[in-house]
Amino acid sequence: MKRFKRLSVGLLFFLCEFSTFSAQANMPPQVRVSLFQAHTPLQQLVVLGPFQMVRPGSKPIDSKTMRDRRYTIKMANQQVSVCNSMGYCEQSPRLILKPVLRDAITIGPNLTLLRQYPGKLEISVHSNGSLQITNQLPTREYVVLVVSSETPARWPQEALKAQAVLTQTRLLKYQLGDTLNDSTQFEAYLGKTHYRSEVRQAVASVWGQALTFNNRPIVPFYHASCGSHTSGSAVFGNGQNLPGIIGVPCHACRLSVFGKPTISRVPLKTYLQAFPAGLPKVERWDETGRPLWVKFPNNKSESGYHFWLQLGQRLGWGKAPGLRFSWIRQGEWIQFTSTGAGHGVGLCQHGAATMARQGVSYRDILHHYFLKASLMGDAHSLKLTPSS
Ligand SMILES: [Zn+2]
Repeated sequence: MKRFKRLSVGLLFFLCEFSTFSAQANMPPQVRVSLFQAHTPLQQLVVLGPFQMVRPGSKPIDSKTMRDRRYTIKMANQQVSVCNSMGYCEQSPRLILKPVLRDAITIGPNLTLLRQYPGKLEISVHSNGSLQITNQLPTREYVVLVVSSETPARWPQEALKAQAVLTQTRLLKYQLGDTLNDSTQFEAYLGKTHYRSEVRQAVASVWGQALTFNNRPIVPFYHASCGSHTSGSAVFGNGQNLPGIIGVPCHACRLSVFGKPTISRVPLKTYLQAFPAGLPKVERWDETGRPLWVKFPNNKSESGYHFWLQLGQRLGWGKAPGLRFSWIRQGEWIQFTSTGAGHGVGLCQHGAATMARQGVSYRDILHHYFLKASLMGDAHSLKLTPSS
């Protein structure tokens, strides 16, 4: 469930220009993903063999199969150095690793954090002096593994399909040469760690489908639990909702773990150490009770969303899991009350799961949360036509 909570701040950085598209035609065949972006910069990497190692740039291309069980990759003289357990090392400015005998390579910063990745891995030296690991894999496999990473086990099939459509919608903006990353800045991608066959089945049934508004891909926001009503994207502080993203009622998530308000208390002293500017007042709320704009005692103003993010980063995400939150000083304490989990924009995952368990189709789930969007690429001629 901890993994699931991380969804709350996912997909925040897609507030960029749209372009027109043709749904399935624009799905890239392969994607590149920069790995371990949620971790401190990697100084070394453990790789479990066997794997094929290619050193591009050599003439002819130097390729060999590494058969030992364990290798360590680190930097040496601004090059990538691969060492076996006997201490024998080979160096190259750049390495490409491919699986041998298995369908994935097992890598990780150490033996306690190992993940399996399909496709090929490119290892090079980043400009900041750390190792840079980029995974190239078929797009469809990437969608399967992102949905597996972003949903808990036993998530109902129709909710998995809805989630897959959101990931595919995001990928319509992918351009050749782009590199995604594996953090919640995009969506979590943890390789095959949480792979489930039912997710592959869900992706197969909605492959190529995407949500659009005026024939352009929407920004596919989602969050863990809205707490009874979603919001438009104005809560991010830009003052207006993006096309096709409006708030809707959601009663399906009320029985979830985040259905009841979360109340937490923080000592005033602790709060002031984290926020020397003091406790802000809300200047504007949205219609669902999410703070749009706050003002600190020193007259500094910022979006309620930014304050909420800072609160989570400095005092812990459990203090106010949902952006629908408020606060009050009680003597030497500050009490925070929040409902739901995450920013509350777009699809509510707990609500979607509840609807799916009640027999609602992924089409109707998507229609509920993206009321103005259309579903493109659906062979069953879905008419999620805009309601206005
Ligand atoms: Zn909800």
